[in-house]
Amino acid sequence: MFERYAALAEKALRDEAPTLAEARWILEGVDVELLALVQAASVPRRKYYGNKIFVQILNNVQNGACTEDCGYCAQSKVSTAPLQAYKQKNDESILQEAEKAARAGASRYCMAVSGRALSRERAEKFASVIRTIKARYPLETCLSAGLVDEDTARILAEAGLDRLNHNLNTSETNYAKICSTHSYADRMTTLLAAKRAGLESCSGFILGMGESRDDVLEIVYRLRELEVPSIPINFLIPIEGNPVQDSGSLTPEYCLRVLALARLVNPRAEIRAAAGREGHLRALEPLAYWIANSLFAEGYLTTRGDSVAETYRRIRDAGFEIAGNALYDETQSNKPSYHIAGSGPLIKPELLRESPRRKHEKVSNASS
Ligand code: SF4
Repeated sequence: MFERYAALAEKALRDEAPTLAEARWILEGVDVELLALVQAASVPRRKYYGNKIFVQILNNVQNGACTEDCGYCAQSKVSTAPLQAYKQKNDESILQEAEKAARAGASRYCMAVSGRALSRERAEKFASVIRTIKARYPLETCLSAGLVDEDTARILAEAGLDRLNHNLNTSETNYAKICSTHSYADRMTTLLAAKRAGLESCSGFILGMGESRDDVLEIVYRLRELEVPSIPINFLIPIEGNPVQDSGSLTPEYCLRVLALARLVNPRAEIRAAAGREGHLRALEPLAYWIANSLFAEGYLTTRGDSVAETYRRIRDAGFEIAGNALYDETQSNKPSYHIAGSGPLIKPELLRESPRRKHEKVSNASS
């Protein structure tokens, strides 16, 4: 019964992708055993990343007022989400947040700016702050700044930027339904420019934007063709006022199937259970750690997410380790304790809680 899963794991170890028929079965087979699938996907995950989980902390360096119309984004010109727009934060603030991320144990500090494209002038400004971050803190850096051409990408690469994030977001076929102000081809051009400039690319997708199973298959194989080393898989966060909303297609089980498919098609990649993991994977989130080796903590571009403490607790409870960095003092946060939501490690006895019988007696006495 489990031979089929073992065969998928062996293929992944040989860096061979599943066939299209196998991939389709992973996504929609009614006889798929979820735990066996997670186990198969965990084999290459363990081979390339052991027991470690990389935590990323995101700094939304400039918020809102974007000219683009990405329907999933609260910063877009078509969203009516209440948003406090702000211009690019100053360097001091970006550096302070980098230090905070390093001390919190992040492996990577991700900076994001709203807007269509990154100009040379702004790239030079970022180059300076990236040089300082790399000199001061043991952090990998990532920048998400819209469309980037090769010369601009080179400025960032020379400054020491490790990765440029530019998500494909959805399939080429589905792209026009989520954005009209720039095209899928524009996104591909940016990814290829980054590669030529010597930057690692970080590119993934958002599930829950009306895509079909075929679209999902198209994206995961496209990312393999592009040899993308870092694949964030986001689960659409339902933000009030955004035109693109999920119709309820994302169950925790389906999210795990997609993560497993992405891992088996891209066995060496850093697979990230990214934005929306908390609300869509819910009780199944720990199973995602056997597939993905990377997470965000402390929220996303415009919405909250689990804190560092909550994220680390869950990672450790599942038996995984936080990859951390040289500045991170694990002993500060690694305190196993009794834990229930909304409470500290010590619990107050509920002295005032009344038994149902006592309550009944009181009501009877009052009415007699
Ligand atoms: S995803 Fe980026 S380009 Fe698109 S609307 Fe949001 S900030 Fe603008």
